[in-house]
Parts: sequence; structure tokens; C-alpha cells
Amino acid sequence: MFKPAGIIFLGALIFLAGCATTPTMPDETISSPAPDQAAAALNWVDPNAAPKPRPQQFPKTNPPAAISSNRAPVTIPKPAPAPVMTWTSLNRWAAEHKLGAPQFLSSTPVATYSISSSNGVMILALGSHEATWNGLEILLGFEPQLIDGQIFLHGLDLQKNLEPLLCPPPLTFGTNRVIVVDPGHGGSNTGTHSVLDGRFEKEFTLDWALRLVPLLETNGWQVFLTRTNDTDSALSNRVAFAGAHHADVFISLHFNSAAPDTRQAGLETYSLTPAGMPSTLTRGYDDTWAQSFPNNNFDAQNLQLAVRLHGALLHATGEEDRGVRHARFIGVLRGQRRSAILLEAGYLSNPHEARRIEDPEFRQKLAEAVAAALRLKSEIRSPKPETTVPAEDTNQLSTP
Ligand SMILES: [Zn+2]
Repeated sequence: MFKPAGIIFLGALIFLAGCATTPTMPDETISSPAPDQAAAALNWVDPNAAPKPRPQQFPKTNPPAAISSNRAPVTIPKPAPAPVMTWTSLNRWAAEHKLGAPQFLSSTPVATYSISSSNGVMILALGSHEATWNGLEILLGFEPQLIDGQIFLHGLDLQKNLEPLLCPPPLTFGTNRVIVVDPGHGGSNTGTHSVLDGRFEKEFTLDWALRLVPLLETNGWQVFLTRTNDTDSALSNRVAFAGAHHADVFISLHFNSAAPDTRQAGLETYSLTPAGMPSTLTRGYDDTWAQSFPNNNFDAQNLQLAVRLHGALLHATGEEDRGVRHARFIGVLRGQRRSAILLEAGYLSNPHEARRIEDPEFRQKLAEAVAAALRLKSEIRSPKPETTVPAEDTNQLSTP
């Protein structure tokens, strides 16, 4: 078990308190619930055991927020006020952001619109959380609405899902160029298992990570793994590890399961849900919309990173696109003070995908896709005069 002395990360402890106290929880990516959720956690069954409906069901009402602990006496908890966000006409938003007007594409099966910039094209559908960005599936927080004959989007979707993709600046990192890669699970925390022969997820995530190290180092990254052998590490330690190494980027590697369903297939990429927005996936955990975590300071970079890696993995594998998603319960993401995402690179419960995941060549392909997606502009440019390149520009990711 990885227990680095002296690097306990206070924020992580606050948000992830009790992470190591849920040994029966099969997916170590899940943080322990808050104390008032403890009873529910005891009854937790394999989160991968139930097929996940697609599209995900979104809550229709805003649940009450947590009670402030320093105000006594408290009688009846009142919901915290949601962030003030209004529904905005996409036409008006586009004009304000100096983008071309949205284009109406089709009325069947649902009305769809496109909005584009020099970065790419987003396609939105009325009444659907599912949007696409340059062909990749993006899950919105709220369904676009038709108001007075125009498409309206929730302000949080405009701010958190559209603006980071449609508008500059591109994804940048600090000057450290340090990345922490987190092979999911380890030791007694096995993760899910292959439907073919029972081999554990923890084995495949570690192998993927080990293959990634030399590739990222070749691309100029300093790479640290949260584990390098078959040992478990608490979620809080994985977050603290990234802090101790002053990481610019954190990537957690996983494989999925929908057992006993053997048909579900495809790739999912997760980032932390922005405050005020419902999550794509809750797995029954508290999803208080008003909650904000340290990693929410990186909402825009998280989405940009997620889209970049999700697209690279889809392109490399040809697997089904299950979308760039938001979740609030993932313990290795919430406390991160850097861009952080979690990759689910296929289903070990699906015989076809399990066979691929068990193939070392496929895992090498996954590693190469991640490394290629994190290549920096400076490495693919032709020789350039040193004096004319701004320092920060050398840390921009290359255009895909
Ligand atoms: Zn996992």
C-alpha cells in the first residue's frame, strides 16, 4: 500500500475522508460517501453489476444541499441557492462570442442545430443531453429547449461545455510538464474482472500505465505512477501523490463492466461535474448540484483534456463512443488541483472487448493513443527561432 509520509493532502482528506474504509466496494475510483451516506454505502453492491441505461437518466429536481455545520441550531435544512444561471438563446450567445449564428440542421427525429468555430463543430439536439463535438459524444447537463422558435441552452452548459471547446484559448499546462498516471485499483482492490477468464482489471490498468511511461517521457513529460506494482493505494493518497509531485495533469486508467450484461461496449471518459449541474452518472451516490470541489477550478481544462484523450482512444481502437461524461462521486478527481480525468477503455464484461483488453498489443495501442494526445506543439513544429516563441506557447497541446 502506498503511504507516502508527510504528503497528506488536507483537501483530499476533507473531501475523501474514510476512503479506505470501504473494502467491499469493488471500484476504488469511488470515494466514500459523506457520513450521512454511510448507511447507504454498507448496502452498496457491485456498481458495475447493473447495466447502465443509455442515455443516462438525469434528475429533474435539484436535491437539497448539505447543511452548514457551523450554524446552530439548525432546524430544517434549506437547499442552498443554485448558481444564478439563466437560459440563453444560442443565437445571442454566439453573437456575444463572435461566432457565426447556429445553423438549423434537421427536424427529424429531433430538431438539431450546429454551432461552429475554427476549433470545430458542435451539434445539439432539442430535448436531448447528447451533443457531439467534432463527432465525439458530449453529455450536456441540461436538455436544450425551444423558446419562441429559438434554441436555448442553460447558462452552465454554455459556460462549461460549449465555451471551452468552441472558444480559445486552447488547452495549456503549467511549465512543470509533470503528469501523474493512476493505474486503477491494485492489491486486494481488484477492480472488475474479465468475463473470459476472470483476470482482474487491476492487472490491465497497471500494464497500460507501464507502457505509457516511456512514451510520455519521450514526449517530454516527467511521469509518475501512483503505483508500479500490485498494491492498493487509498484514493486520498492518489490525490496527495499528484500534489506532492506538483503534477500538471492527472489521468486515472480503468476498464469497465456492465455484468451480467455482456453486450454493453465502448469507451467512456469522465471529468468532475461542474457545480450547479447534474452528473451524467451518479451510481446512487449523493449528487448535490451545489457542491464545489478543488478540481472544479479546472472545469474547462478537464473538458478539453477529456475530449482530446477520448477522441484519440476512439480513433485508435475503433470502439463505440459512450461519451465524455461528468460524475461527482469519483474520489480520485474531486480533490485534484490540476486537470484530471478518468478513462474507461472498454468493457471486461463484453467478450469481444475483454479479448482485446487481454491482448498486450491492444494495451500498447491504448498507451500510444494517450501519449499522442498529450504531445505538445513544440515537439511537432519545425525548428523555430527561440526568441520569437512565447514561453507559454511551448506548453500548448498540439492541434489534433
Ligand atoms: Zn476501475
